[in-house]
Parts: sequence; C-alpha cells; structure tokens
Amino acid sequence: MRDRLGRKIDYLRVSVTDRCNLRCLYCLPPQGVRPKTHEEILRYEEIVRLVEVAVSLGIRRVRLTGGEPLVRLGLTRLVAALAAIPGLHDLSLTTNGTLLAPLAEELKRAGLRRVNISLDTLRPERFRAVTRGGTLADAWAGIEAALAAGLHPVKINTVAMAGVNDDELADLAELTRRFPLHVRFIEVMPLGADLDWAGAHVLPMAAVRAAVEKVGRLEPAQVAGAGPARAWRFPGAPGTVGFIGALSETFCARCNRLRLTADGKLKPCLASDVEVDVRGLLRRGAGNQELEGAFRQALELKPSHHDLASYPGHARVMCQIGG
Ligand code: SAM
Repeated sequence: MRDRLGRKIDYLRVSVTDRCNLRCLYCLPPQGVRPKTHEEILRYEEIVRLVEVAVSLGIRRVRLTGGEPLVRLGLTRLVAALAAIPGLHDLSLTTNGTLLAPLAEELKRAGLRRVNISLDTLRPERFRAVTRGGTLADAWAGIEAALAAGLHPVKINTVAMAGVNDDELADLAELTRRFPLHVRFIEVMPLGADLDWAGAHVLPMAAVRAAVEKVGRLEPAQVAGAGPARAWRFPGAPGTVGFIGALSETFCARCNRLRLTADGKLKPCLASDVEVDVRGLLRRGAGNQELEGAFRQALELKPSHHDLASYPGHARVMCQIGG
C-alpha cells in the first residue's frame, strides 16, 4: 500500500486493550481514564479479520500494543491466530514487561517474534514513582524471560525525561554492554493526560546522546526492525542504543504505519485525532471490499507530518491510542 505521498505503508500497530496495570506519569492521570466497555472493544476474531484484510492489502508487520496488551486474557490465542496468517512476516509486542515472565515462552511458541519492553529507570523507588505503583523486579523478570525465550531482538523503550531519569541515561545505555538489549531513548511527547507535564520534562535527543557518549564512543550498528531509530553501539557491545526524537527530528517522511485502536478505529497518524471507524463496518456485516475501502480511506487521510509541537490537546491519551 502506498499513501498519496508515495510512502510505503506495510506496518500496522494493533491495540488490544485500553487498560493498563500501570499509570505512567507521561501517559495517564493518577486515576486512569474511563475504560471502554467489553462491547466497545474489538473481539479477537474481529482483530484477526481486520489483519487478514490489511495483509491482503500489503501490511507485512504487525505490533500488538495497548494499554498493556498482557492484561487482556488469552493474548496467546490472538498471537497464534495472527501468526498463522500467510503473508504476515513479523509479529511483535510492546509491553511494560511486568506480566511477561510467565507468558514469554508460550507467546514465542504461539508465533510472537519479538518484544519491545518499556523501562524508564533502573531504580526500584523511581520505577514505582514513574509508573505510579509498579515493581521494577517484575519488569526486569519480563526482560530476562524475553531474552531466555528467544524473542529476538529484545528492545527497551526508555522515555527520557528532564528532572526524572536524566541522571541515569548512561546507566540504561550501559545495559547494552552486558546484555543483547537494544535500548531506544524516546522523547516525551505531549500525548499524555497532562500536556504541561510533558512540556516541562522534554529532553531533546541531542542532550540524551551527549549524556550517553560520556561513558563511551558510539559506532553505527544494525538491528532488525529498527524502525525510526538508527542504531549505535559501544564497540564490542552485544546490544545497541537508539535515539527517537519524535519532536526534535521528525521522521514522518519515512512513516510506514497505520494504527488500529482497541475500540476499532483506524488512525492514520499517532498525533492526529482523525479516525476511520471499522468496528461499525464489521458489526454491520461488511464484506472484505468495504473493509479494504476503510484502510484505503485511512491512507488517504494520512497527513504529511505530525503537528505535535503545536497541537493543543488530543481526544485520546497514548494508552487509548495504542503506543
Ligand atoms: N503498556 C505497554 C508499554 O508500556 O510498553 C504498551 C503501551 S505504551 C502506551 C507504549 C509506549 O508508549 C511505551 O514505551 C511508553 O513509554 C510510550 N509512551 C506513552 N506515553 C508517551 C508519551 N507521552 N511520550 C512518549 N512516549 C510515550
């Protein structure tokens, strides 16, 4: 699939739930947001049907996300059904890792290829504060289980925040010297519940990189499914480091994705409130042609670039979009 600007779109992010077991400062308000009802959320069968249509149109990679995807019961069943779709080459998962340890093996056996695990700090107290109640040991157990299960490559998503974790960015990067982990630093985006909070804690990627380079020279590296992040490594390290500056260095010209929200809307762009409803179509008994039409419409609506820096606020927070 190509959009009207000629960008090749072969990647679909599928949110399986808007619920999360954590309440990260940059994402959710302390009380969370009103969860969608069971009826509003796409059933697994509906997700599979939509992904089949997407693959018939040229989608080759799917990432499951949320909310926290592992809070949804029976996720392994969805993974197995998606992995069986001919033409889908890559199936991955974004998770906070805290529920992953007991599930990593079975997810891998079901056909999951790889995981991105969010980790913003290596300090238990700080982890509890940033996630409003999470336990670092649970997330770390998830990371170890992912490595042991061969969910390769294991990427770590670290939101870099001024005044929150800017004093341990080098420590997080140094994980890549000890483990085959791919640590990607991400600029905090004004997509959470509290836009002022995000604005006050933005840390430009140039500053992140400078902090990391204090502990060693970085050389260019390759990593599978690198997405928008170019990869770097400390010489001889088993893992890599990446820098994703969604605000300071937009990569919209290379954007290759669409998103499907847990309540069945196609989103052409993370940072825009434009949506195309597919749940309604599905539940009215739409045929494949109509569903294909909805994907094409989403492509038509895909903006040339995001306007994150000047956008006044969004209808959904990350947890409801699918990060
Ligand atoms: N619960 C899963 C997790 O924690 O990875 C998946 C969903 S979460 C919304 C996906 C990613 O979005 C996480 O890596 C999280 O750190 C990131 N994220 C959420 N809000 C963000 C924000 N305002 N700016 C930058 N990244 C954000």
